[in-house]
Amino acid sequence: MALKRALIFLGPPGAGKGTQAKRIAQAYHVPHLSTGDMLRDAIARGTELGRLAKPVMDHGDLVPDDLVMAMVEERLAARDCDGGCVFDGFPRTLPQAQGLGAVLERLGFGKPLVVDFHVDEETLLRRLAGRWTCSVGGEIYNIYVAPPKVPGICDRDGGKLIQRSDDRPEVVTERFRAYERQTKPLAEYYRRQGVLEVVDASRSMEEVSRALAGILERAQK
Ligand SMILES: [Zn+2]
Repeated sequence: MALKRALIFLGPPGAGKGTQAKRIAQAYHVPHLSTGDMLRDAIARGTELGRLAKPVMDHGDLVPDDLVMAMVEERLAARDCDGGCVFDGFPRTLPQAQGLGAVLERLGFGKPLVVDFHVDEETLLRRLAGRWTCSVGGEIYNIYVAPPKVPGICDRDGGKLIQRSDDRPEVVTERFRAYERQTKPLAEYYRRQGVLEVVDASRSMEEVSRALAGILERAQK
């Protein structure tokens, strides 16, 4: 099995992109790329781009697109990307998508294959806002899917379960809306290029995996 292209996953936080990206990266022996990891790696290795990005990240600011694009290009030029790669959480904006398109072209990858992970707001709320974390051992429960035996108490160590601020319903809703506003134009951009596929990501992880396998198989032909 060969991927030989860049695979891009679009979808809101909680859609399961990360898990699927990991599985595909393993199955096709290609790197799983996230710009967050790339930035941290560039900083740890003290590359020129890392040195430029560090003060920006230390301030908690967003790293500018031109810096991110330079880093992506450097990463894609590495040998282990010859067989393709999976992007998780990138691009996020139309300018980034256009920048990535130009980089892929320059490096001879051709057009990417883009998969949009569709999931409705209610499913996301159940997945994310149902999540409670143990204040002692960090165990994660989901009050809908995998509840503790005693409400609010960890099965393992009796710790009190707390909800992380990121998982509060109003925060999840806000992130979902922000995601939709930001990425609608992106999906439209890829649709016009004829490279957009959609999966129903409200289904189980296994079902989503199977749907993705089908999409990749068709794309080889
Ligand atoms: Zn616990």
